[in-house]
Amino acid sequence: MKEIRTYGLVLHVRSFGEADKLVTLLTQETGKITAVAKGSRKTKSKFSALLESLTLGKFLLLRGKTMYTFIQGELIKPYTKLHFDLERLGYAQYFCELCERCLPEGEPAEQFFSLLVTALEALEQDSCPARVARCFEMGFLDLLGLRPALDGCLLCGSQAGPFYFDPSQGGLLCANCPRPAESFPVGAATIAIMKRFLALGFTKLSVCHLSPEASEQIQQVSTKLLEYALGVVNLKSLRFLQQVNF
Ligand SMILES: [Zn+2]
Repeated sequence: MKEIRTYGLVLHVRSFGEADKLVTLLTQETGKITAVAKGSRKTKSKFSALLESLTLGKFLLLRGKTMYTFIQGELIKPYTKLHFDLERLGYAQYFCELCERCLPEGEPAEQFFSLLVTALEALEQDSCPARVARCFEMGFLDLLGLRPALDGCLLCGSQAGPFYFDPSQGGLLCANCPRPAESFPVGAATIAIMKRFLALGFTKLSVCHLSPEASEQIQQVSTKLLEYALGVVNLKSLRFLQQVNF
């Protein structure tokens, strides 16, 4: 058994057995891990607030053969502000669910940890939560090795639109080239803003104008790429966001 001290963000918490909680964390040291917090449902302890989803903390864990055990920790930030706004909460849960569903267990993921924490900070401050979400999606795809190819048509190299996005090849196709049924239109403004997110990340995000149409198309690029490359579908948080927004 080995003790590990690490910063971590609680992605998801679920009940385990009679009295325990299973806590999925994205840690700075060891990537995504699951830890059992023994007795945490029966007795209220000073760590109760730490073992809630969307909480940033410093954790002391014990690494066992198959699982980690939570020993103690220190609350750093509970992101309380996000809990009082359903749309922002929905986006925060979406970021966490993407990390939970797409990242392998126990593989170092320091860049994903920074991206997630940066995105949550931006989500608290930014006047346009959708803009933060689209920027997170581009950064997340890039770190996964799924950076969309946006420099012209994949087949003929044409720089002239209109363009379609082909999720099976992860890039653009022009109107003159054959395209598979799963491809869909993406506007010039959408392509420009995706390039901007990929190049600059969250830097000066507040001056970046995102139309509802571009937001929808970027989300479609992300959702379809994750579906084709990783088989990730039916995110609960996306259904929640649709309910909140309409
Ligand atoms: Zn072409």
